[in-house]
Amino acid sequence: MFPINPLNNSNRQKHQTYKMSIPQNLQSIKSSLPEHVTLVAVSKTKPISDLMEAYNAGQRIFGENKIQEMANKHEDMPKDVEWHMIGHVQSNKVKYMASFVRLIHGVDNLKLLKEINKQALKHNRVIDCLLQIKIASEDSKFGMSPNDTIDMITSESFSELKNIRVVGVMGMATFTSDINQIEGEFKYLKRTFETLKQIKTESPNYHLNTISMGMSGDYQLAIACGSTMIRVGSSIFGARNYH
Ligand SMILES: *Cc1c(COP(=O)(O)O)cnc(C)c1O
Repeated sequence: MFPINPLNNSNRQKHQTYKMSIPQNLQSIKSSLPEHVTLVAVSKTKPISDLMEAYNAGQRIFGENKIQEMANKHEDMPKDVEWHMIGHVQSNKVKYMASFVRLIHGVDNLKLLKEINKQALKHNRVIDCLLQIKIASEDSKFGMSPNDTIDMITSESFSELKNIRVVGVMGMATFTSDINQIEGEFKYLKRTFETLKQIKTESPNYHLNTISMGMSGDYQLAIACGSTMIRVGSSIFGARNYH
């Protein structure tokens, strides 16, 4: 386990320096994952040559946090890549990814879901989405409360959205070195998932099977707490110069 200390980056640095090449990093992470856990390789800020190294090592799922950057990379990369949008989504940019995005992790309101539905319809697609639940104590993190989520899913406007499908939840833990706090937040997301799964709805656009939680510093803990999808960047591609 590599606790994250916001005041001292040395844990993360150490985490990276003993690693070697992108294919080797990928291999060592993948060999440690249970079969039910999906690895999203977070390639934000990294050049196509780095993505291609991962691609040639067998990786097909890539995550980006900026829509324009993801759209550009989609142009340049082989067409069998699955693109995941893991960042906060602005409604007016959904149109730039609607033709190809495979999973949108950070959906946190009905208005955004409606816009995704509208753009997906234009391309005659159904776009899978995860609802971002606020699990961190920091105000800066986005996300819905469990109650808001239940209200949304059981609303009539939600049932009318035929071109989206809610397949799970996503959460980001507090940026802290306190492992107990992170563990508590991951368990809270898992409990929220189980609660949401109990909701009886006729809507075919609601089919929960995914819990997206865990990054380079905490994915083992996240998996122990029930994660089915981890988003790992720096442990594969090395440190980023900026977010
Ligand atoms: C950047 C990012 C990650 C990956 O972070 P690492 O610590 O580099 O693994 C995961 N999830 C989200 C939402 C991100 O923005």
